[in-house]
Amino acid sequence: MDELLSRQNLQWRDRARAVAREVVLPRAWKYDRLQEYPWDIKEALASAGLMKVWIPEEYGGAGGGVLDLCVVVEELSRCCGGTGVLFAVNALGSFPILLAGTEEQKRKYLPGIARGETLIAFGLSEKGAGSDAGGLSCRAEPDGKYYVLNGSKKWNTNGPAAHLNTVFAVTDPTSKSRRVSGFLLERDMPGYRVGYVEDKMGIRCVPVGELELENCRVHESQLLGGKPGLGFKHAMMTLDRARPGVAAQAVGLAQGALDFAMVYAQQRQQFGQPISSFQMVQQMLADMATKVAAARALVYAAAKAVDAGSESLTKYSAMCKLFATDVAMEVTTAAVQIFGGYGYMRDYPVEKYMRDAKITQIYEGTNQIQRLVVARNLIKEAGHLGHLERFIPVPEDLR
Ligand SMILES: Cc1cc2nc3c(=O)[nH]c(=O)nc-3n(C[C@H](O)[C@H](O)[C@H](O)COP(=O)(O)OP(=O)(O)OC[C@H]3O[C@@H](n4cnc5c(N)ncnc54)[C@H](O)[C@@H]3O)c2cc1C
Repeated sequence: MDELLSRQNLQWRDRARAVAREVVLPRAWKYDRLQEYPWDIKEALASAGLMKVWIPEEYGGAGGGVLDLCVVVEELSRCCGGTGVLFAVNALGSFPILLAGTEEQKRKYLPGIARGETLIAFGLSEKGAGSDAGGLSCRAEPDGKYYVLNGSKKWNTNGPAAHLNTVFAVTDPTSKSRRVSGFLLERDMPGYRVGYVEDKMGIRCVPVGELELENCRVHESQLLGGKPGLGFKHAMMTLDRARPGVAAQAVGLAQGALDFAMVYAQQRQQFGQPISSFQMVQQMLADMATKVAAARALVYAAAKAVDAGSESLTKYSAMCKLFATDVAMEVTTAAVQIFGGYGYMRDYPVEKYMRDAKITQIYEGTNQIQRLVVARNLIKEAGHLGHLERFIPVPEDLR
């Protein structure tokens, strides 16, 4: 599908592909087993300049867009889904700074992120507030020129490794629309502590943990954008731009599982012939490849819509996330089926793809929530269909 990509997109894709094949693939199962942060892989990503893809040039980045980010995430995830998110989470954490940060905040943090020296996380979800992201209880109380944060965050991807965390907390509990604000918290700030680190089904090389904030006192210069009350809006704008990255992770995982299934189907002999010669196996492979192609095309289209600032970017971003991640689950499960009993074993590569794929249907908003977002936007946009009203029922003179 190279024809869907610009020369710049292809350059990023090829650079990421080289790192993925040479550095990520040979280490993927070791880090999955150990559930350890792969510092050597992160160094390779930084050395190849991949950590600066989405950061504007004036802050030390490469000035790429969401589609550039997506092609990199896809290639990394094709070799290891954990590495895909280990990379993409830095975009998730830094998009709020890009979209809403003050000039001072951008100058302070973005160059370090672009160099791959500052790792960043995104702290929105809490134990009691997942899908209902507006129901946060973590508090940030103003105290002169400071804010004092108390509470905890759940499922903070990269948090246990990160130097910086974009954290959302309630600054005005009495307000409905301006309740929440974003804060840029550094890990050595007093009262900031990484809590329980999760033992996960998949994406095991990237740590996901709790964040405990106990009288974490931060200067008002750490308030995202310098104005309180805009945090929920900034978080939602961030998710609109980050969801194509999750979708690209899903496409990469599906493609990687399909690649392995293709090789295995030609290698594995039963009834005296390779299993790829059986029509039912061929049908599975054909369906897998078709779904991957459809998902990839939608992800690229949605990423382009985001880069172009389309009015419908929220809808397309949700659509590509839900479609591609459902495809990833179907295709990785089918790959396990093609491997037969061996597919179920940890000694073989594809069960990891299936485990890594599952989370893509859950984080950055479950696929149930994506469907709500798509439906809400469809209904909002339905005004342009007014010309059809007179055809319900079809007027008698037209029948
Ligand atoms: C490994 C991992 C990493 C994560 N990383 C991050 C991160 O870096 N930062 C961050 O902020 N969050 C992160 N999350 C949180 C993630 O976004 C939430 O888990 C997700 O939004 C779902 O919230 P929940 O787990 O509380 O599920 P719940 O909201 O309790 O949902 C449970 C079920 O109910 C369904 N449901 C809920 N509400 C509705 C509704 N209105 N209509 C229909 N169905 C509904 C859901 O779809 C789901 O199937 C991560 C989660 C995991 C597991």
